[in-house]
Amino acid sequence: MDISNNILEILSSDSNKYMMLCSGGETHIISDGCSMLCKEEISRNGLTGLHEIVNSKDEFLCKGFLEKLRTTAENGVNNTLECSLRLKTINGDYEYFQVKCTFCRNINESDTMLVEITLLSPEEAYRIELAKVFTNDRSPMQFNKQANKIMEKSPDKDFALIQFDVSKFKVINEQYGESAGDEILEYFTGMMNMICGENQIFTRLSADVFMVLTPYEAEKDVQDMIDRINSSLTGYKNIPYTLYFGASYIIDKNKPLRKYGDEAAMARQSIKGDALKHVCFYNDEMKNRKKKQKYLEDHMEEALNNHEFVMFLQPKYSISLNKIVGAEALVRWINPEKGVISPGEFIPLFEENGFVIKMDHFIWEEACKLIKYWQDSGIQPLPISVNMSRKHFDSENSAEFLDELIKKYGIEKRYLEIEITETIDDINKEKGIDMLKRSGYTLLMDDFGSGYSSLNTLKNTQFDVVKIDRFFLQDLIDSERGQKIVEHTIHMAKDIGLALVAEGVETEAQAQFLEQCGCDVAQGFFYARPMDVDTFQELRDKNI
Ligand code: C2E
Ligand code: CA
Ligand code: CA
Repeated sequence: MDISNNILEILSSDSNKYMMLCSGGETHIISDGCSMLCKEEISRNGLTGLHEIVNSKDEFLCKGFLEKLRTTAENGVNNTLECSLRLKTINGDYEYFQVKCTFCRNINESDTMLVEITLLSPEEAYRIELAKVFTNDRSPMQFNKQANKIMEKSPDKDFALIQFDVSKFKVINEQYGESAGDEILEYFTGMMNMICGENQIFTRLSADVFMVLTPYEAEKDVQDMIDRINSSLTGYKNIPYTLYFGASYIIDKNKPLRKYGDEAAMARQSIKGDALKHVCFYNDEMKNRKKKQKYLEDHMEEALNNHEFVMFLQPKYSISLNKIVGAEALVRWINPEKGVISPGEFIPLFEENGFVIKMDHFIWEEACKLIKYWQDSGIQPLPISVNMSRKHFDSENSAEFLDELIKKYGIEKRYLEIEITETIDDINKEKGIDMLKRSGYTLLMDDFGSGYSSLNTLKNTQFDVVKIDRFFLQDLIDSERGQKIVEHTIHMAKDIGLALVAEGVETEAQAQFLEQCGCDVAQGFFYARPMDVDTFQELRDKNI
């Protein structure tokens, strides 16, 4: 029986149930043909037939769906997957069909794909269209309205909000092309349409952030929904990406839904980049953290004006001479209400909101003032290294800014050194670093050996000094092998003309080991903690 040519005709027949059997690269559709289960092998492209009749608007969804089927098939799972697609009927119109595919692996190892197609009722089709409207980028407002309606309709039901996004979505766009990124998002939208059942709706909040309203009886139901979304949405075209989920229970339906959306967002953001945790439920500790952050943000401008940011100095010692040879400027926030706030609590926040630029400018100026003071009072100036967040490179010409400062205070450039954390980016290509270098500043590569660093980073680098990270030192120093790594790193850096500073030196043994390896400058609690400028001057007086 050759029915492959009659696809369209059969789709338009009276019955609204069809069986489509894909085998050997051909697609057969059999009206109500449940009894005709043939066991034939499907080739890898066995579902090409489906493409020919799918509306182009559902192309990505269909592709994704087939891709998913294929991976399921490769894993040998007898699984049924469903998808709503607009398929062409004989009169050229598109109608919504529920396409249900079951992949069967038979005893004789031949594979069969059973595809059942059901014409959807106008109401069902409308629901899908509606969901599509809600996934429009500008529709979170509508989502809120619709969500409130759903909750009003079921006053005794509990609801939760789930948010999710794709880890490093930007990287996918860069590595696989923007069209791949778009495809993934289209695929998500399509799959979410399928996953969402009664009383569940979703919206797209921004490029890759989705939000879902779901009813639940037990808390496990929310986790189940998350698992379902996760397993349906990951693995598109074998592109490696991870979804991060945040969820919040809607405890008080009278409160604006936005509050719970914010909570779900907070939960999601709290695990961003975490390799082990992909799901987080909102809790009160998060609220406290957020409150604290809000306090910092609300007070940062005022704090800067009131000189609550203070430059501390941590001395750098020559190990062999046991003498202070320089210092690193480290900011402290001395707040009248909260006492001393350490940079770990506010720098990441300021990097996010951009305030780090202003704050750094202030600290750089403090360093210049001190150098000027030393010069004017006949004290031999010591080089002070200041930290420069990489944020500066996005928005300003830091070299120009520093040049102005140097001019304003009439100090020598060599006394102001710049610490920049190395990252995964190709450091050598960065314009900002280039300009600093060309202006003649001494550049220190901060935190070398943490995270992404490799010896490769050192080749052709613009940096003058490598600061060996505390953890690099501490992790390696206890084993013979580790010691060798530190030793060789130091040798290699020196070999290519770089100077070295070891950070976080906490014991005498560490200092001795570094000296043996040829790294003579150390900074760390073994020598001194960061201290205010007056204390630093006293220490220096004693040290001379
Ligand atoms: P960093 O630049 O790596 O600074 C070194 C950090 O290690 C300092 O923490 C210092 O107090 C700490 N440290 C020094 N020796 C030891 C040691 O022996 N043991 C241990 N456990 N820790 C040691 P701090 O002052 O809390 O600063 C944390 C980070 O905040 C800095 O890391 C830097 O990334 C950032 N930061 C500090 N001040 C500024 C600033 O003015 N501007 C910018 N952009 N970032 C800053
Ligand atoms: Ca530093
Ligand atoms: Ca460091």
